[in-house]
Amino acid sequence: MSFEIKEKDLLARIGKLKTKNRIVETPLLFPVINPAFQLVSLNKIEKELGFEALITNAYILKQRFQNQPIQQGLHKFLGFNGAIMTDSGAYQILVYGNVQTDPKEIVEYQERIGSDIATILDIPTGWKTTEKQAAQTVNETLKRAKQFFKIKTHKDILWVGPVQGGRHLNLVAKSAKEMQKLPFQIHALGSPTEVMESYRFDVLVDMILTAKMNLPLDRPLHLFGAGHPFMFSLAVATGCDMFDSAAYALYAREGRYMTENGTHRLSELNYFPCTCPKCAKATPKQVLERSPKEREVFLAEHNLHVCAAEIRRVKQAIHDGRLWEHMEIRAYNHPALFTAVKRLAKYKDFIEKHSPSVKPSGLFFYNSLSLIRPEVIRHQKLLTERYTPPDKTETLLLFPQTSAKPLHKSHEYKKTAKTLKKQTPNFHTCFYVAPFGITPVELDEIYPLSQHETAMPLDKETTQHVAKQTADYIKRTNYKTIILINDPQNWNNTVISTVKRTCKQKHITLKTIHIKEILTTKPEQPRET
Ligand SMILES: [Zn+2]
Repeated sequence: MSFEIKEKDLLARIGKLKTKNRIVETPLLFPVINPAFQLVSLNKIEKELGFEALITNAYILKQRFQNQPIQQGLHKFLGFNGAIMTDSGAYQILVYGNVQTDPKEIVEYQERIGSDIATILDIPTGWKTTEKQAAQTVNETLKRAKQFFKIKTHKDILWVGPVQGGRHLNLVAKSAKEMQKLPFQIHALGSPTEVMESYRFDVLVDMILTAKMNLPLDRPLHLFGAGHPFMFSLAVATGCDMFDSAAYALYAREGRYMTENGTHRLSELNYFPCTCPKCAKATPKQVLERSPKEREVFLAEHNLHVCAAEIRRVKQAIHDGRLWEHMEIRAYNHPALFTAVKRLAKYKDFIEKHSPSVKPSGLFFYNSLSLIRPEVIRHQKLLTERYTPPDKTETLLLFPQTSAKPLHKSHEYKKTAKTLKKQTPNFHTCFYVAPFGITPVELDEIYPLSQHETAMPLDKETTQHVAKQTADYIKRTNYKTIILINDPQNWNNTVISTVKRTCKQKHITLKTIHIKEILTTKPEQPRET
């Protein structure tokens, strides 16, 4: 296998990809290099900015330089020691409608120049295509992918099998299902550039997840044209292992300054919100006084620094098990990104299935967006499908979540349990907890039920969600009496009203106690010995 997965969080992976020249680490960003005109030197990109790989266009190489890269070898020709991926001219098809090469010729050319990772000449679907047109691009790409295996002669190149279909998800699914039958080492999602330019990150989520659910998970997925660092965490969390970006250079040409949170016009900046070596030594005013060419180089280098830094943050977040939190923070930078994170609800079961069950750190919950987190979905599934309460417990104590963890060791719970035990020795406790819902006392130390922090008071969607989980639990169990400790300050009476209704329906005796009654009485003094 050329791809080895080392660490996981959500659908993200830190992996090792073995190319013929070197092993590179994913998630990996490939800056797009124009072989005819390069703003930032490749030596700088490799040595100073630390990029392990780049992508360039085999079609442009062939048109402009013909045999020169073949004679020198691609690495020497470009002056880059890292991994080099080549695209085939598919993007030119998208822009110009046609290219002056054919699938066989461009495969042979990529073999002869010595690409590490190479791409077949696929037909991009594009954004504004009808379903019929899109189906044609899918079918033609598949036909070319099948023919490719009769053409290729080298075994040391990692070949990319692109998935097409655009916004037509049924076609994306078909394309991925057929493509995964072929022995490509890497898959790629085509056509997202226009989707991203129009800020339809929700459609992008649909496209990525549809491809992901129909491709083998042990092969890396490349996202073509994922330009902006503010969406890297979303793309990585949904399972993209590799991206390429020309945005750093395109933005620089337009005087645009990237940050991990968005984009500024250089002319509108008074201060640089960045500590990269370029920004640390200049002010926006000084840069504006430079020549247009110098300004462009400055911006391109800064933009690359920002992209590299965000990829490192995303990797550290995977390592820490905090990619969700990182993605959520980024999502607040644009409503379109937030919409995209909400769209993950549609894929919550798939994400849950492939997310690690134990993480190195606890979880932070801010609002109802977190209700679709894999840890929450997993707990609810286990509780519904596998859990039964202890035998012979007719009384249920429903206790609100406590700030101290584990829940059963909190002062307020211990005190309540001690008092109750005198009247009802055989009762069972479940905590109602945001965002997990019902947490039986005997499970409350299992990860992550005691390893999380929640922002209080809760929002309406969260209280309603937990109230529903609580009602469902009461409906499928056989308690005769329920004692509910109500915490209206944090829970807004949502749980109590739902539980009242459910108890009435099931003829269960309900007693309620205000949490204040427990909190205001002083804790017992330790006995003198
Ligand atoms: Zn900077």
